[in-house]
Amino acid sequence: MGMIRLKNVSKYYYSKGIIASGISRVNLDLDAGEFVVITGESGSGKSTLLNVISGLDTYEEGEMYIEGNETSHYTASDFEGYRQQYISCIFQSFNLVSSYTVYQNVALAMQIDGYEPAEIRKKVNDIIRKVGLYEFRNRKVSKLSGGQKQRVAIARALAKDTKILVADEPTGNLDSESAEGIVELLTDIASDKLVIVVTHNYEQFKDHATRIIKMHDGKIVEDTGAATAGFAGEALPEYGRRSARAEKRTEKKTKKKSITYGTQLKLGVRNTFNLPAKFLLLLLVFLFVVTAVSAQYVSVKKQKDTVSEVGWNNYFTNYDPKRVVVEKQDKSAFTKADYEALENAPHVEKLIREDIMYDSSVFIENKDFSFYGYVLNINNLEQTPDIGGLPQADDEVVLSGYDDGWTFGENPEDLIGKSFKVSTDGGKEQKVKIAGIVFLGSGEDSDSMYSENSMIYFSDPLIAEVRKGMYATNSTTTMMINGTEQTVYPGMGGLNVNDNVPEGYILLPTSYDPMFKDGYAAGKEMQLRAKALYYDQELTLMIMGTYGEKTFERKTGLKNLAEHDGEVYINEMDFRRLYEKGSFQASVFVDDTKNLEGMKDMLERGGYHALVLKDHINNYMNEEIVSIIQLPMAVIVCLAVFFIAYFVIRLILKSRGVYFATLRMLGMGKEPARRIMRVELVLDCMISYALFILFIYLNRIGVVNSVQLMDHLTYLTMRDYIILAAILLVMSVLISGRFMRSIFRSSAMGTYREEA
Ligand code: ADP
Ligand code: MG
Repeated sequence: MGMIRLKNVSKYYYSKGIIASGISRVNLDLDAGEFVVITGESGSGKSTLLNVISGLDTYEEGEMYIEGNETSHYTASDFEGYRQQYISCIFQSFNLVSSYTVYQNVALAMQIDGYEPAEIRKKVNDIIRKVGLYEFRNRKVSKLSGGQKQRVAIARALAKDTKILVADEPTGNLDSESAEGIVELLTDIASDKLVIVVTHNYEQFKDHATRIIKMHDGKIVEDTGAATAGFAGEALPEYGRRSARAEKRTEKKTKKKSITYGTQLKLGVRNTFNLPAKFLLLLLVFLFVVTAVSAQYVSVKKQKDTVSEVGWNNYFTNYDPKRVVVEKQDKSAFTKADYEALENAPHVEKLIREDIMYDSSVFIENKDFSFYGYVLNINNLEQTPDIGGLPQADDEVVLSGYDDGWTFGENPEDLIGKSFKVSTDGGKEQKVKIAGIVFLGSGEDSDSMYSENSMIYFSDPLIAEVRKGMYATNSTTTMMINGTEQTVYPGMGGLNVNDNVPEGYILLPTSYDPMFKDGYAAGKEMQLRAKALYYDQELTLMIMGTYGEKTFERKTGLKNLAEHDGEVYINEMDFRRLYEKGSFQASVFVDDTKNLEGMKDMLERGGYHALVLKDHINNYMNEEIVSIIQLPMAVIVCLAVFFIAYFVIRLILKSRGVYFATLRMLGMGKEPARRIMRVELVLDCMISYALFILFIYLNRIGVVNSVQLMDHLTYLTMRDYIILAAILLVMSVLISGRFMRSIFRSSAMGTYREEA
């Protein structure tokens, strides 16, 4: 059997619902050493036949045998393998990679076959010299003439060195002089191959052909000089060289290797840069992707962070839109000078010094009446009381609340001058008198969703007293006993002030004894430590002794041990040392919300951390909704970005279809093609990423100034940058995969037709 045999092969074209016949029921035997010329008028099926023979197109009926093997079950990739092994193609339209140089085009054929670089270099240079293009070897193919291009195509076919060479109208686009040269070259290199040339200009090849096939309407109507005809020698003397050619035929070579990973990488890198416009466009698309994805990423992180910031600040219950909470950047306590500077700063409407109190509600009560409100300094009271008057002594307070007949009872006047107690954890109970009451209206017309906008105005000494208790509850207090730390809570059942305990001493229940060496706590030292957001205070105290059931009343001066079980007592001075800290947090109110940003800037430059409460209100309110919606939204946006990027990249890579069809024509399979594409996209994407990082860096050192980039700096950690890079990497790999699938969906010729 011959090298190629076609048995009743038919090929149909389907386009827009119309079926056209390309070739129908063709029978043909082709053997090595033949120089076959196929002629026929336009549309007679010559190209179709050639494409079927070279596996560039599929056939629908019949069977094609290659060296005796059936091919009707072949997949596209089987045909790629077949082409790599057997076929070199030359087309009327050249099918070269126009952005590659002459040398690169010719070398490509050998690279796909996995040759060693040194071998490629030597052979490619030889071949280029042979086709007379040596001086143009480093010129881009796009800058060559038609005749030169066809020489490159022939050189490439030569470099491929296969048993079968097919040429479809190789001289069709050339002037007669160039055509003559091409014919010479073709016949020269064709000595031991099966050469199949399609031409409508038979004259050009008649001196070299050993066999002529004439086609008409998809069928072979004439076949002269076939090797199997047996009379070739006598009937057509000019074909006499055939047998000699057949003898020269070299025996089957070993199976060709495949393109190496190194070459794939090299081609990918080359493809990235060899079309500058495409490179820049891709860079822009990826930059868009990086920015969009990272912006989503940052917004999710920022949201989380903001939510947790509010969590940290969950004592901000007074959401005044004009309020800015400040602390000093060095976390030290506010000084008088700080307060004065803040009070006199431009656009400051008022300053609340005891800010922590402003958010802490306090109970004042006696047996007839109780009142619950935020604590403010009496200096912050802006009006004279509606009932009673301003405080005359340190223990007098003014209440303000809604005049709804409920808050203050039926007869608010009766409350004036009455005594109440203020309880604070750990600290001493305070006695206060109500000096006056301010009415806030009926409460129904209030736009605040907090009905507890009730306030208690305290004097400075009172505030200091209450604050102690507050700091006690807002800090973590620990006792260091024998190297282990134990938390103790100020207040009932925990740490308390007791006048019977001298300064520098601590009184413990007997239950502590076993924790100490030899079972006695008395006379030993221990550390008491209070830690809060703004301070960390440690005291070393001497244990004055322990109390038991019998000794409790004598040692503490208190009654009823059951109510005080497990309590630990220290002197008031020590309690103050632990908790009576200065104020670490104040609130500035701006005169107008439009000055908030300016205020924040000013404060931060002035050494404060500023938290604009307004910006955190909504987040706090919608915290859950936000975290439920934010992430899926970010995912949706990223997916949208992915698809936009995919389609734009597809558009940009439109021309790549021809490139990859060319690679397929040369016998490259899907996998290496995908890897080449992947290298290109990943490289492009990583360069964009590097640019993005560069922008962020420039922002950091202050060369560019962008709020968005600033957010990146604030919210992204090294790990995030790595995750971001990984997302992009995966994205470009997926895109190149999708792209390759679409390229390899149809036959090589189909792709070429689609893309060209
Ligand atoms: P030739 O190369 O001899 O000019 P072709 O093989 O190109 O002829 O075409 C053979 C027949 O197949 C023609 O009738 C042509 O209209 C049809 N044909 C070729 N290519 C296509 C195609 N891509 N889609 C539809 N019909 C086609
Ligand atoms: Mg044709």
